[in-house]
Amino acid sequence: MSDAAAIEMKPPKSGASEMIPVFNPSTEERIGEVIDSDKAAVDRAVARARETFEAGVWRLMPATRKADVLWRAADIIKRRVDELADIEARDNGMSRTHARNLILASTEMLYYNAGWCTKMHGQAVDIIADTGITGTPAEYHGYTLLEPVGVVAMIIPWNGPFLCALMKLAPALAAGCSCVLKPAEETPLSALKLEGIFREAGLPDGVINVLTGYGETTGAALSAHPDVDKVAFTGSTEVGKLIVKAAAGNLKKVMLELGGKSPLIMFDDADLAKAIPGSAIGLFINSGQNCACTSRIYVQRRIYEQAVDGLAKIAKSFRMGGSEDANPDLGPLISAKQRERVLGIVADDVSSGATVVTGGKALDRPGYFVEPTLLTGTRPGMRAIREEIFGPVGSVIPFDEEEEVIAAANDTDYGLAATVWTENLRRAHRMAKKLETGTVWVNATLAADQSMPLGGYKQSGWGYERGWKGIESYLNIKSVHVGL
Ligand code: NAP
Ligand code: MG
Repeated sequence: MSDAAAIEMKPPKSGASEMIPVFNPSTEERIGEVIDSDKAAVDRAVARARETFEAGVWRLMPATRKADVLWRAADIIKRRVDELADIEARDNGMSRTHARNLILASTEMLYYNAGWCTKMHGQAVDIIADTGITGTPAEYHGYTLLEPVGVVAMIIPWNGPFLCALMKLAPALAAGCSCVLKPAEETPLSALKLEGIFREAGLPDGVINVLTGYGETTGAALSAHPDVDKVAFTGSTEVGKLIVKAAAGNLKKVMLELGGKSPLIMFDDADLAKAIPGSAIGLFINSGQNCACTSRIYVQRRIYEQAVDGLAKIAKSFRMGGSEDANPDLGPLISAKQRERVLGIVADDVSSGATVVTGGKALDRPGYFVEPTLLTGTRPGMRAIREEIFGPVGSVIPFDEEEEVIAAANDTDYGLAATVWTENLRRAHRMAKKLETGTVWVNATLAADQSMPLGGYKQSGWGYERGWKGIESYLNIKSVHVGL
């Protein structure tokens, strides 16, 4: 797709709707526009989702057929991967290779959750209850029923739009829910393909409803909507708190996958040939626009200089480029605003005494590129240590003792992920226990599997995605007692 007109547009559903311009962050070109869905559009989408839920067009479909629809949707996405990757790359600015990998990863969500459709059921319990006063035991046949929570609003960020959408849609659909999805205003385009893909796969119309719009209006209206049963959100901790408040009106269920300030700990017995490149990827992949970005790198003193040199060498070697460049390693940030914020954090910390080892500047070309940046000399109170940067900026910090580094690693409001590099088996497991994060990687970089739940400790979230826990969060459990 090479011109704005080629991007599929949805006609405004309400005459009053404004349009939101869409840009390619790697070229700064305007590539299209989408509808700014107003309150009436939100009401209509929620009503449509409710209608399909109550009618049972999806909820009551035989489990094998549900599985078939999810499986087919994955096959269609695979078949259309180049087209979808092209849209995603131009909308987000990332390279086509990276976009392709993320689109293909999204099919895994569908294949995995398709398998659960035929395997989710309640449990039977034989109950002999002591009735107390009469002393006569009462006998019940007890069982649990798993029922979809109902209408789910899904609000997602811009850093991996299609993947984030499928991470929610796949388990929610497997559970039998009807959905309203709001992509980020910066990256709405790939989501607009979803209704068509699922229709072709055999999903009844109205079970998935995609609404473009701004967070403060469309997103807020969805989170507060009295007829939404659950909101599933991925985004910043700040907006997560707004969603919790908005959800209080009807006490809808809330699932939050939020930000992080993830530590990486490199002990001096680590296999440095793997640890140093692994740490560079964990920090810089997607130009740091990754919730689990390991932006605090703690290195044991004996290998500190070697690690800083090694990381700096890799940082300098990355080829920067976006959707229109051949085989870049790292892409742009999502917007000029985000670029200024990231550079502002570097400037603030440098003025407080931190040192830039490499990077620290914007690229002199169109697009919102920031050089991969390493800081040393940061202190615990500095912005690069406390704030989620969401840019290619990491601090390398020396440490001496295990206890000291555990305290430093846990000294954060976030608790999404942590990485440990060590060849000492006992220490590896000790660290896994002591780090206050939902995921711990030992001698691994950003490993993930459909069967492994993803969730955050502390202010990194509520609930889980992936695995059985991921489906369970879209189900209500009903306990039935039948007197015998
Ligand atoms: P964000 O600003 O929190 O936005 C996320 C989504 O929420 C967008 O669709 C946004 O709409 C919407 N939104 C904004 N204000 C809202 C409101 N008042 N009510 C309802 N919705 C609202 O996050 P972002 O900057 O797009 O994405 C980066 C963040 O996502 C980072 O903090 C990152 O760590 C987090 N993240 C977490 C995970 C995880 O799994 N834990 C994964 C990826 C990203 P607009 O598009 O209009 O802003
Ligand atoms: Mg935003």
